[in-house]
Amino acid sequence: MPTYQAPIADMRYLLNDFLEIGRYDNLPGFSDASQDVVDAILEEGAKLTQEVLHPLNQSADEEGCHWSTDGVTTPKGFKEAYKTFVDGGWPSLTCEPEHGGQGLPTVLGIAFSEMIISSNMSFGTYPGLARGAYEAIKRSGSDAQKALYLPKLASGEWGGTMNLTEPHCGTDLGLLRTKAEPQADGSYQITGTKIFISAGEQDLTDNIIHLVLARLPDAPEGIRGISLFIVPKFIVKEDGSLGARNGVTCGSIEHKMGLKGSSTCVMNYDNATGYLIGDAHKGMRAMFVMMNEARLGVGVQGLGLSEVAYQNAAAYAKERIQGRSLSGVAHPDKAADPIIVHPDVRRMLLNARAFNEGARALAMWTALHIDLSEKHPDDAVRKDADDLVGLIMPVLKAFLTDTGFESVNLSLQCFGGHGYIREHGMEQFVRDARITQLYEGTSGIQALDLVGRKLPQGTGRLLRQFFHPVDQFIQDNADDKELGDIVMNLAKSFARLQQATAWIAENGLKNPMEAGAASSDYLKMFGLVALGFMWGRMAKVSTGKIADGAGDKAFHENKVKLARYYMTKVLPDTSSLMSKIMAGADPVMSFAEEAF
Ligand SMILES: Cc1cc2nc3c(=O)[nH]c(=O)nc-3n(C[C@H](O)[C@H](O)[C@H](O)COP(=O)(O)OP(=O)(O)OC[C@H]3O[C@@H](n4cnc5c(N)ncnc54)[C@H](O)[C@@H]3O)c2cc1C
Repeated sequence: MPTYQAPIADMRYLLNDFLEIGRYDNLPGFSDASQDVVDAILEEGAKLTQEVLHPLNQSADEEGCHWSTDGVTTPKGFKEAYKTFVDGGWPSLTCEPEHGGQGLPTVLGIAFSEMIISSNMSFGTYPGLARGAYEAIKRSGSDAQKALYLPKLASGEWGGTMNLTEPHCGTDLGLLRTKAEPQADGSYQITGTKIFISAGEQDLTDNIIHLVLARLPDAPEGIRGISLFIVPKFIVKEDGSLGARNGVTCGSIEHKMGLKGSSTCVMNYDNATGYLIGDAHKGMRAMFVMMNEARLGVGVQGLGLSEVAYQNAAAYAKERIQGRSLSGVAHPDKAADPIIVHPDVRRMLLNARAFNEGARALAMWTALHIDLSEKHPDDAVRKDADDLVGLIMPVLKAFLTDTGFESVNLSLQCFGGHGYIREHGMEQFVRDARITQLYEGTSGIQALDLVGRKLPQGTGRLLRQFFHPVDQFIQDNADDKELGDIVMNLAKSFARLQQATAWIAENGLKNPMEAGAASSDYLKMFGLVALGFMWGRMAKVSTGKIADGAGDKAFHENKVKLARYYMTKVLPDTSSLMSKIMAGADPVMSFAEEAF
């Protein structure tokens, strides 16, 4: 059975030393996040995830969810765990105080989210989707809608869902057919079928607030004719109590590769009562605004699974004995050496660990910018932070899930054939991780978003929010003796990223196929450099701590070693990506359709 220990030492390091969140104690939410509060949340969060959620992860995978015409039953133990989760006030951690939330910063919420995912990603989808519905209503709902729905979503009393996908449309939502007919009382009747709806039906909450994309009768065709509706499972009366059962039912649940404790539902809307959120035909805009956080959440799923898989692989590599070290017998007391002595096993473990700690830094750095974009009193700071978040989000979503999957797979590889056997739990991590590259927009679609929308936006305004600080960091630290080689390696890859960006800007403008063919390689290169920037900055912080004799010396020395590993053994992959980008679209597009 796999084990999990929440990486709270690393999370503390990122919050206190790397991001120095104490600097922002004049901002709402941060003023409440004193050191004591942060420590208590990390420690209590670790306890909850290790002791309550993690023990249910494997059994939930074995059992899955159950469907009947009465609804969906979640795996054994989920109901009790959900009650513990709600009683502890966890759903409301980062919700607004005016809705009964604790108003704590997103950056802290992200650390806790990672723990939930590592311990039990399926369980995490239920509060995760409710959180998505909370955000959508908070950002686009009327005051009356906010008052009616948000406190109970924040408390965890009600669940929530996001209903975009239909059988014939996933990526291209312009094709969606679900209809919304206006009624005399100002409500709408929603009719249509949605598929793949996470947490669409469950037995954890008294009500479920579905957020549904549908088309009004006079809607323009395509993506510009889509509106967003609240469709509660039980109609909510004006006083907040539950009324009649609405015309929405779960027709069936999917049998999936992984994420089996999370119900993935076919939802049938049959003249269900719905309420428009925001403006008619502007549903996609409302969805996009809240998608930033959803994409960050999915990126963190890649990280969370990679972390738990790494922890188990590292423990196994220290125990499993096979062969002798290439430099002679390392453990003469044993019949063979533990496999951790072998350079190739270390390569797999260090790739995973360098990814985990770099990805955690990137996710928390981005989350901090979400906080700044929402809470900082200075308009210019808010705008710059928002630009950075917009730019990084597709990179974070796709790079953390693609590399997270590779990394989970490497951790399985450390187990040899035993990794393929269920009891070790590694094959579940691989199966669970695979979905993260698909939902909330596939990795390919994130890459197109990056090159097609984010790079050209504001003639490179978004890009400057990332390029300037990287450039500045390199200039400021190029002569630092402790960091010299680390900065030099970052500078080389950053130069490649700048060159690739210019190449795409020039060639993509002439022929969009060039941008399309380069997009996935470019996003990967961007992700590698983004983690490189994080590693450069962490090395700077940790070399400073070592020089000052501050903190845990061994912790900081390992950080610097891992930074060097990343810079010399991982980041140089930007070189081959550069060659692939420069090869252009012809090798891809010269194949005739019928030749496939
Ligand atoms: C377990 C699970 C849970 C889910 N949860 C939810 C949920 O809660 N709510 C919800 O609404 N949906 C949900 N989904 C749906 C998910 O978001 C979609 O499956 C996903 O967006 C992809 O859509 P699709 O499956 O229709 O693939 P398609 O859109 O058919 O794409 C197929 C392939 O073509 C590529 N492709 C498509 N268009 C382009 C293009 N223009 N350029 C380049 N490549 C392209 C894609 O990248 C992909 O590789 C879930 C799915 C699963 C499996």
